[in-house]
Amino acid sequence: AEEILEFDNVFLAIGEKPDLSFISSEEGIELTPWGTIAVDDETLVTSNPKVFSGGDCVTGPATFIDAAGAGRKAARSINLMLEGKDFTLDRANELSRKSDLIGDKDLAYPSPLKPMPELEVADRISNFNEVELGYSEEDIIEQAKRCIHCGGCSECRLCEAACEPDAIAHDLKDWIEEISVGAIVVATGFELMPLSAMPEYGGGRFPNVINALQFERILCASGPTAGEVRRPSDGKVPKKVAFVHCAGSRDPEHGVAYCSRVCCMYLIKQAMLYKHAVQDGEAYLFYIDIRSNGKRYEEFYARTMEEEHATFIRGKVSRLYEHDGVVTVFAEDTLTGQPIKMDADLVVAAPAMLPSKGAQELASKLRLATDEYGWVSEAHPKLRAIETLTAGIFVAGVTQFPKDITDAVSQASGAAGKVLVLFSKETLEREPLIAEVDADICTGCGVCEEICPYDAPKVDPVKKIAKINEALCEGCGACAAACPSQAVKHRNYTRTQLFAMIEEATRDY
Ligand SMILES: Cc1cc2nc3c(=O)[nH]c(=O)nc-3n(C[C@H](O)[C@H](O)[C@H](O)COP(=O)(O)OP(=O)(O)OC[C@H]3O[C@@H](n4cnc5c(N)ncnc54)[C@H](O)[C@@H]3O)c2cc1C
Ligand code: SF4
Ligand code: SF4
Repeated sequence: AEEILEFDNVFLAIGEKPDLSFISSEEGIELTPWGTIAVDDETLVTSNPKVFSGGDCVTGPATFIDAAGAGRKAARSINLMLEGKDFTLDRANELSRKSDLIGDKDLAYPSPLKPMPELEVADRISNFNEVELGYSEEDIIEQAKRCIHCGGCSECRLCEAACEPDAIAHDLKDWIEEISVGAIVVATGFELMPLSAMPEYGGGRFPNVINALQFERILCASGPTAGEVRRPSDGKVPKKVAFVHCAGSRDPEHGVAYCSRVCCMYLIKQAMLYKHAVQDGEAYLFYIDIRSNGKRYEEFYARTMEEEHATFIRGKVSRLYEHDGVVTVFAEDTLTGQPIKMDADLVVAAPAMLPSKGAQELASKLRLATDEYGWVSEAHPKLRAIETLTAGIFVAGVTQFPKDITDAVSQASGAAGKVLVLFSKETLEREPLIAEVDADICTGCGVCEEICPYDAPKVDPVKKIAKINEALCEGCGACAAACPSQAVKHRNYTRTQLFAMIEEATRDY
């Protein structure tokens, strides 16, 4: 060298080779011509059938992940061998982790890794210039979008060290805790009717027919496409988007009879956000009628039409087909009576809202009544819309019936208030209309015990007489109707009183 340069630090990137001096010829372990240990690729057994090997001493310099994977593979071979099993059988692909990906697979669009730009062969002669030229900044941004954020944690625990309030604890494990509470607010929300239940819309087979929650994620700045509107099949920006209202709602034959209440407005919101993101894009909304019955909702709807130029077509979509990346929408314009056939790049459906999975099981455990769809029933539709028929259990949000965030928050605040009222009292007040047992007539048969949804009656095992727990009894009357001895009556609703009322009400004046 003709130049002398001064540096503060010098790092030597030296080559590596395994130090295998500990292996003698007696062990019968063969080496490769490159001085690494020879193994069977699938089992990692060496030429000595009781010795296994993995990591850099087999592959030469590689990564920590490769070494950890090899350790796992070798451990499995050893385990099988010690169990007396043939460790060579069915070992191919056993460590494939593809199916474990937890990222936004559905929204990731297939695109191959861009090849690394390289120096022309002719330009490499007689110099040591870098052959791999690296990506441009634009390429790097584009390639990074292929990431599906699978979120695999490498357990490096740097986040633990960085978090000042010590909010991260890697050693935490799931546990089940039993706590005693004085009140419960059930707020288990909703899920959307799956597209697979709608064969007329492709049954979930068309990549460019998605549900509104998926589109909500696509529009979101922290979503899989960082807020850029791209369609799932090929990542292209969709220039024509059709929004399908009432997918499964208001359709007793194929879905549910009720209106899901929030989808009209959120589809209008999504159409507006789409037009902001793709200014030359076209938004078409197919609706039966628009339900915009909230504060300023109607004005928002008008603005989306007049300022964003979204097109509203009154008519329910009857069918969707997708071929070669084009989704064909079939509908009827019920204002003009004309059939419509329209090609779109992307279709966003607003599926019916359904009670969340497990809500029915929870309702049974808590002895809550539900309607025929599984929504939790309130004690009274107008006067006790937050309470259930079980004392101390309240309901909030969509678990009672579809509603938007404003209504869900109002109901939740109301439920919290009810709980505070309950807790602020020294003693509990109960309705006086509860069951009581006539001990002289009761035979102790236990029918009331079985029938009561609130576990209020208990038959005394010694006296063989039923007794009602007044704090639990909700006065539903099930035991009174079921008791074969007519031993149960409701306070202030005795048979004599009821018959007197009926007689009076049906008297011929
Ligand atoms: C695509 C879309 C867009 C929307 N956009 C808007 C909008 O712009 N504005 C608006 O006002 N509303 C919007 N909504 C409506 C809004 O999502 C609901 O009003 C809101 O989520 C209702 O809140 P919730 O707490 O009742 O139910 P959820 O949000 O469903 O919350 C229920 C929670 O309970 C959990 N859970 C379920 N079962 C159990 C169980 N057994 N044990 C413990 N936890 C359980 C669930 O995991 C969930 O976290 C939109 C809805 C959709 C589908
Ligand atoms: S809110 Fe609108 S889109 Fe949703 S079910 Fe009702 S009418 Fe249909
Ligand atoms: S059903 Fe009637 S008779 Fe039988 S235990 Fe209950 S109260 Fe007594």
